[in-house]
Amino acid sequence: VSPIEKSNQLLRRFVADAGHELNTPVATIEGCLQTLGEPSKIGDMSEELFEMLERASDRLRHLAKDLVVLARVEDLESELSRTEINLRDMTEYVIAELSSAAARRSIEIHLGDFPDVSLVAHEESIHEILNNLIDNAIKYSENGGIIDISAQQGEQYISISISDAGEGIDEDEIEHIFDRFYRVDKSRSRNIGGSGLGLSIVKAAVARHKGYIGVESEAGKGSTFTVTLPI
Ligand code: ADP
Repeated sequence: VSPIEKSNQLLRRFVADAGHELNTPVATIEGCLQTLGEPSKIGDMSEELFEMLERASDRLRHLAKDLVVLARVEDLESELSRTEINLRDMTEYVIAELSSAAARRSIEIHLGDFPDVSLVAHEESIHEILNNLIDNAIKYSENGGIIDISAQQGEQYISISISDAGEGIDEDEIEHIFDRFYRVDKSRSRNIGGSGLGLSIVKAAVARHKGYIGVESEAGKGSTFTVTLPI
């Protein structure tokens, strides 16, 4: 198979997967509309219908946003404007953004040692990296879990680690988790509500900054994602 045919195949697969992801929320919306079209059927279901519509629209919004972000970071020809970013401030900002999702499930986020380092980087990409990794740490933690975030500085780089004590990832799944739309547990992850694109975005954003990402995980014990970025 030629490289061009290979990349066409990947594109076709990506479009088909994206189409599948759209199907579920669209089917939910259609089902709700059908019920709403027959007022006698609504009875005391209006709250439930409202919640279903809200979840479906949340999923569509999330998916649309992730597709746009992924296209942008994966497009090597697009310029990503760079500014000076203090990583610790950005991490604290993302923790604050996600604090109500964590609090709803009594999950504590601890920010440990974190050197005061600034990088010249694309702000939205750095935000996406931290947001997706911390959001995943929350999603895949048990209720009442603890998430530890810290960073270490080397001469030319900074490494940020995000550790959870959640469900972990089987060894043979780890190589796939950065693939677009890949989810270890399809049904469970669907309930949790991610697009399956989060780690693909993280991987592409890290690569655009000439960094790398590593994962250590043990099923049932938890996971640590470490992102290393040049300063
Ligand atoms: P999703 O939207 O499903 O979270 P991601 O691309 O962010 O998509 O992650 C892909 C899959 O990797 C997830 O569905 C989950 O199975 C697994 N995963 C990611 N982060 C973690 C984590 N911290 N702990 C356990 N599993 C994880």
